[in-house]
Amino acid sequence: MNHMLLAIDQGTTSSRAILFSIDGRIIDIRQKELTLRYPQNGWVEQDANDIWQDCLWAARQVITGHPGSEKAIAGIGITNQRETTIVWNRHTGEPVYNAIVWQDRRTAAQCAALKQQGHETAIAAKTGLLLDPYFSATKIAWILDNVEGARHAAKRGDLAFGTVDCFLLWKLTGGRVHATDATNASRTMLFNIKTQSWDDDLLALFNIPRGLLPDVHDNVHNFGQSAADLLGKSYTIGGMAGDQQAALIGQACFEPGMVKSTYGTGCFALMNIGRDCRLSQSRLLTTQAYRFQGQSHYAIEGSIFVAGAAIQWLRDGLCLFTQAAQSEDLARKVADSNGVYFVPAFTGLGAPYWNPHARAAILGLTRESTAAHITRAALEAQAYQTRDLMDAMEADTGTRPEIIRADGGLVHNGFVCQFIADMLDTPLDIPQITETTAWGAACLAGLQSGIYQGLEDITARWQHARRYTPTMPADRREQLYRGWQTAIRSVIAGNH
Ligand code: ADP
Repeated sequence: MNHMLLAIDQGTTSSRAILFSIDGRIIDIRQKELTLRYPQNGWVEQDANDIWQDCLWAARQVITGHPGSEKAIAGIGITNQRETTIVWNRHTGEPVYNAIVWQDRRTAAQCAALKQQGHETAIAAKTGLLLDPYFSATKIAWILDNVEGARHAAKRGDLAFGTVDCFLLWKLTGGRVHATDATNASRTMLFNIKTQSWDDDLLALFNIPRGLLPDVHDNVHNFGQSAADLLGKSYTIGGMAGDQQAALIGQACFEPGMVKSTYGTGCFALMNIGRDCRLSQSRLLTTQAYRFQGQSHYAIEGSIFVAGAAIQWLRDGLCLFTQAAQSEDLARKVADSNGVYFVPAFTGLGAPYWNPHARAAILGLTRESTAAHITRAALEAQAYQTRDLMDAMEADTGTRPEIIRADGGLVHNGFVCQFIADMLDTPLDIPQITETTAWGAACLAGLQSGIYQGLEDITARWQHARRYTPTMPADRREQLYRGWQTAIRSVIAGNH
């Protein structure tokens, strides 16, 4: 009797394996922190072999830690940090360069030049994305142009490109399968989300040989069998999705208008917009939400690069506390931020501003300002940033969500959750299954194996653990938000 699902959740800061029961209970979880390297200003890399070895280690640990699980695991689902780019040799499986992480800005000049040449509109029409170093295309081209012999090897067909899901699949299948799923493909800036195919014009524009690219499948698909020697026996890899899309699935946001917002290192809010691929007019992204049985569903996405990372900076950079959770008590020591605003643009501003040159700032300081005010301002910024996204989403879709389903490390902070509900004037639901990203990947594998019959089975398993209801008076809300808008304007003006 199969009654477990194994999720591999490869994130920016850690690689994890989670064994789920079919009702979503975590049976076991193993995790390894992943090192980020910053070889030059604006560059962010990881060792691709570490990514693989850590995932393999974590998967082995949960399996061997649960005798009998070999028989019980119905399939493996993979979810991953998106856009991060790996190019490897097809014959040896060796990466030709480190993984270039999504946060990496080394290709900002190329993106600016392409924008200058007027390519942004055509790219957005096909991919739903904006011209930004965030996406994979310019990262692939950088590897081909800067690693000796890489472009030549790529033309000969010796190299393979993949996002992290694709690289893990290749490794798990012993180099037999080179494939990705539609959500991960949609973040490369080479994939036409309307025609669901790699786009020859974009490949020519970015100078990337087609032979480098993987096959693209539905999110629920028999992607391949893991090599038997890796995990003790062979398992079916039955589902893959990028992390934010996996969270949308894990949060069961299957109806148009439903929104999930994940507060981890960054914050990513996705609104399901259904089967109609509408482009954002408000500088948000249009992206693949999921593809089941060949049918594409789309989402509008707001991506904020720094959310919880700002709390980490208060902890590690300013040493205001030793654990992120202590930020809550500190913030509650004061009644308000006393006019202090914290714009956490450490790596530029993402949606809806898209300003790679902006830098973080703490504004409105007076002699009365304390660590508590600054911490409170950093926590409040989570809500202001979400409000920016929700206003843009409303402008795009004409709808404001009735409820927001939130997840990620920051939702353990009750102050943040209440302030978000207040600033959006919208209730915030926290689910019982808080590992929504990994759970989403497990659900895909469960659908593929037949454990779940359809999306209604996923919906039936979603339950809220806690609801935060707005209580802030409207005039106070708008007054606070106007202060944030002024802070954002001065950050943008100061960085031109
Ligand atoms: P990721 O998956 O992006 O690595 P997580 O979802 O694990 O991130 O969330 C971790 C982030 O959340 C960290 O940046 C941390 O600073 C922040 N965080 C975690 N718990 C709290 C808390 N109680 N209060 C404030 N921030 C928190």
